[in-house]
Amino acid sequence: MSAPPVPPPPAPAADAAAPQTREDLLKILDRETAVARATNGRLAVLLVELRRVDRLQALLRGPAPAVTMSLVLDRLRKALREEDRMAAISDEQACVILPRIAHPSQATLAAVKILRVLDRPIAHEGGSAVLRPCVGIATLPEHGFDPAELLMAADVSRHIAATREEGYHVYQGDEAVEAEVYHGLDLELERALRANELEVHYQPIIEVATGLPAAVEALVRWRHPKAGEIPPRTIVGIAERTGLIGSLTYWILNSALRQASQWRAERIAPRLAINLSVSTLTDHELPAVVDQGIRTWGMDPARISLEIAESSMIADAERSVAILTRLKAIGVRLSIDDFGSGFSSLSHFKRFPIDEIKIDCPFVQGLVGDKGDRAVVASAIDLAHHFGLSVVAEGVERDETRAALRSLGCELAQGNLFSPPLTAAQLREWWMAHAPLA
Ligand code: C2E
Ligand code: CA
Ligand code: CA
Repeated sequence: MSAPPVPPPPAPAADAAAPQTREDLLKILDRETAVARATNGRLAVLLVELRRVDRLQALLRGPAPAVTMSLVLDRLRKALREEDRMAAISDEQACVILPRIAHPSQATLAAVKILRVLDRPIAHEGGSAVLRPCVGIATLPEHGFDPAELLMAADVSRHIAATREEGYHVYQGDEAVEAEVYHGLDLELERALRANELEVHYQPIIEVATGLPAAVEALVRWRHPKAGEIPPRTIVGIAERTGLIGSLTYWILNSALRQASQWRAERIAPRLAINLSVSTLTDHELPAVVDQGIRTWGMDPARISLEIAESSMIADAERSVAILTRLKAIGVRLSIDDFGSGFSSLSHFKRFPIDEIKIDCPFVQGLVGDKGDRAVVASAIDLAHHFGLSVVAEGVERDETRAALRSLGCELAQGNLFSPPLTAAQLREWWMAHAPLA
């Protein structure tokens, strides 16, 4: 006969002032789940995602992401019980453990409190960050018994919370189906890459002043035989999680360069923009891969730009600067993607060898009608020009927006007003109809 389970010793008294590290938190979660299992108790895991800042002040003078996170943890600590534990998982995510709760509704209550305390801007040294946080919730015993199950359920809930008005979501269980599909996709991406099931589409970028086409952005597409169209951010997410990001990047880069060289033979010669994801920025082989691709397809590096999201550059600035400097030496242009969506101001980028910024869709779409967005876009354009950078506005859908961009001196624009992303064959037709022959 096996011995009855012996509950581990209770956690030591909370040290409310000391921030926990991620590793500490995982240990605490291990211990607290064991206690809960042994005592038929309850516990909740909350994943808090900070999400984007907006508005002029935050854009220009907002605190660095790590500072914002530590100020967020201070607020959470004040809002929660003394025995609750929390730690930053990244600059944008925190995990909170609520041990020994009496009822699952206590977890929802805690989420509401968290959202309330994060409702005010996070101020630091005269700048401030405005957050739109969301919280994913999972509880023991309802959604799992061990840390991995609970974290996974809270993570699935966090994704759903991001789409909900109330800003939080309690795991329902049927999302497990969704998680299952995604797990299946993990395994299939490698096969899809080998089977050439992925495709690259191209979206035109036009010159605002003349209306003439200037460039195309390569955007990856995957039509899965069962799951249908998989969003590109999901593809990249899977690739990063499963270690396939290097192969994916290599595949996209070569597909796009091969296509560009074919177009050139057909006398159309758009500049080509290619997206790089976060983790490739720490890959020392990236510059060599880019260099080799460009040589293989006989492209002019000055006609290639690499787009890197604002947040990923800042996340590991030292390493990013090193890799970007090597990329720059190849002769390619470098572009800050999704500018405005992160926590940074342009002055953060002074030491990055950057040529261009791309202003994120929501700001561009608010340009006509929202004074705050207009101020953000106008000052981003001014500052960019001050630093000698050119500006692309993304997500242009209306003619009024194009006119406003023109009056603000924005050089380039991209969006459904001009054309959605097209297959290579469609792009060729579009380009021939809109651009003079090269
Ligand atoms: P992104 O780099 O900001 O790409 C622009 C996104 O905005 C594209 O979405 C494009 O279809 C969409 N867009 C363009 N014009 C409009 C418009 O007028 N209105 C609206 N509402 N949207 C517009 P898409 O293709 O779904 O890509 C989403 C994101 O996925 C990209 O954002 C990029 O971060 C990532 N991604 C896409 N392809 C690749 C790739 O090949 N490699 C990497 N690393 N990431 C990629
Ligand atoms: Ca992009
Ligand atoms: Ca973008």
